[in-house]
Amino acid sequence: MEILNEHINNVLQQLPANVTLVAVTKTRPVEILRQAYNLGLRDFGENRVQEMIEKQPVLPSDINWHQIGHLQTNKVKYIAPYVRLVHSVDSLRLLDEINRQALKNDRVIDCLLQVYIAKEESKFGLDETELWEVLNSMEYKSMTNIRICGLMGMASFSDDLALVRHEFSGLKQLFDQLKSAFFAESPEFSVLSMGMSGDYHLAIEEGSTMVRIGTALFGER
Ligand SMILES: *Cc1c(COP(=O)(O)O)cnc(C)c1O
Repeated sequence: MEILNEHINNVLQQLPANVTLVAVTKTRPVEILRQAYNLGLRDFGENRVQEMIEKQPVLPSDINWHQIGHLQTNKVKYIAPYVRLVHSVDSLRLLDEINRQALKNDRVIDCLLQVYIAKEESKFGLDETELWEVLNSMEYKSMTNIRICGLMGMASFSDDLALVRHEFSGLKQLFDQLKSAFFAESPEFSVLSMGMSGDYHLAIEEGSTMVRIGTALFGER
């Protein structure tokens, strides 16, 4: 608890006031999440639905649950009643299912579009062309129960800081372009989720407003 408190304070001290900390709690037992909660954290990120649905019912109801990992369409229904933000929307089909499940639950679900920015092979995320296609589609325009609040991206897992910075700044540029093209009248389009334990300083310098941090808070997984 002491150590965790130190780590939390250490990270929080390095975040500007406009940057939200999402504590990435994947693989951590509920007891650790409870400690983090008692130390004041409210935003928790999980990358597997199965873990989120095991933890959510036994923890306080004012936790903001963030789905940060790849989300399968057939799993959306399990988290739709409470998920606060889905960071990992990577297809129109997924967005459509989130909209459908949000409607069933009589709520609006906030989403980020995950953009593929890394140089290395990654299975998930939209490329720039796909991003424009989604936002221009009739399907998207007819969705009443989702809100696109911004973008998420993961930089290359690399020691090449110039490369990582370049990827983050590219995502920020894209964010600004989409903001003026599609969301000029939508103040909710304000979230740029980028930065993890190893690269969040760079991400913040390049315009991140939300960092997803696990290891720097809870230690190696
Ligand atoms: C695991 C994970 C993180 C956190 O990684 P750390 O290096 O432990 O901070 C952030 N984002 C996503 C999508 C993850 O899966």
